[in-house]
Amino acid sequence: MKNRSRSIRLKPIDGSTPGGSAGAVYPFSAIVGQEEMKLALELAVIDPNIGGVMIFGHRGTGKSTAVRSLADLLPRVARVRGCVYGCDPVSVTELCDNCSARRNASGRLPSGREAVRVVDLPLGATEDRLCGTLDIERALAEGVKEFEPGLLARANRGFLYIDEINLLDDHLVDILLDAAASGRNVVEREGVSVNHPARFVLVGSGNPEEGELRPQLLDRFGLYAEIKTITDVGERVRIVERREQFENDPAAFEVEWSVEQDRLRKRLVRARRLMPSVRIEKPSLLAAARLCASLNVDGHRGELTIARAAKALAAFSGRRSVTDQDIRIVAIMALRHRLRRDPLGNIGSADLIEQGLDEVLPRSPSRLTAVK
Ligand SMILES: [Zn+2]
Repeated sequence: MKNRSRSIRLKPIDGSTPGGSAGAVYPFSAIVGQEEMKLALELAVIDPNIGGVMIFGHRGTGKSTAVRSLADLLPRVARVRGCVYGCDPVSVTELCDNCSARRNASGRLPSGREAVRVVDLPLGATEDRLCGTLDIERALAEGVKEFEPGLLARANRGFLYIDEINLLDDHLVDILLDAAASGRNVVEREGVSVNHPARFVLVGSGNPEEGELRPQLLDRFGLYAEIKTITDVGERVRIVERREQFENDPAAFEVEWSVEQDRLRKRLVRARRLMPSVRIEKPSLLAAARLCASLNVDGHRGELTIARAAKALAAFSGRRSVTDQDIRIVAIMALRHRLRRDPLGNIGSADLIEQGLDEVLPRSPSRLTAVK
């Protein structure tokens, strides 16, 4: 009985399409402005260990468009064929139970390259939909574990996106945080359990009208990008023009932007390859630590995120070493959500971080412009 229940029968996920290009998706490269949001998402693609991205801004500022258009930009990855979790055939220690069993039986795993998934978590989702369901009657009567995987299974090795995350049920938030921290999803009922890999990049978006996020949730996001309503008239016109072009003829628009998309895709692939060899020197680490200390940031996630994001940015720029400018560019996104509230509210957190940066690093001109 023990041996028989070793293998888990998996029911297919209902109505799911493999990640990627179902329907027309607005190209990421065609998004006007919002450099901070775009950069945060790009850095999370280069190093998924940065710890997710929170995007905060008013409705109608293109947050969801940007996240959904990420899918088309993500380099394809090797996946075990027929595995719902999309296991990496090379990472033997991270295989799900079924892939482990298949590998032990035949000595090899069939694989192919597939698109990375960007999975949407709808606000009304139940715990079952998120985690999957276990047929407990069959398990007890026949010793067969039948498991219907949920969204956490689909999101494994991909992105999990939650729009209006500040409205998500607290209970689901806790499940998400547990899974994000452990990289596993555990479904347990009456002593029968299924445990599968669930390693994903969490991307949340929210808008100020819907209240603040719980601090313990905020802290889990590596980067926090703020969306601003664009005030430049020329840019506003360009947004409308591109939207119209896209809506009138999505196929032609896609062709028009394909060169730019391809260029960015290649740049991301190169950065991912370069990432493991990027170095950050002691003085830069010291500056990050001094910055966090001077801003009274609790814990060490602040400087860890600065270091990781700065390395990803160096890789994105084709460099093997981190510069002061890299630190400057990522510091606001890495720290903005970790500052304690200023009781007087006189000064924005971005300004406070800028002031701190001026103290620990010599001032140099232009922030985001140096990236591109
Ligand atoms: Zn697997």
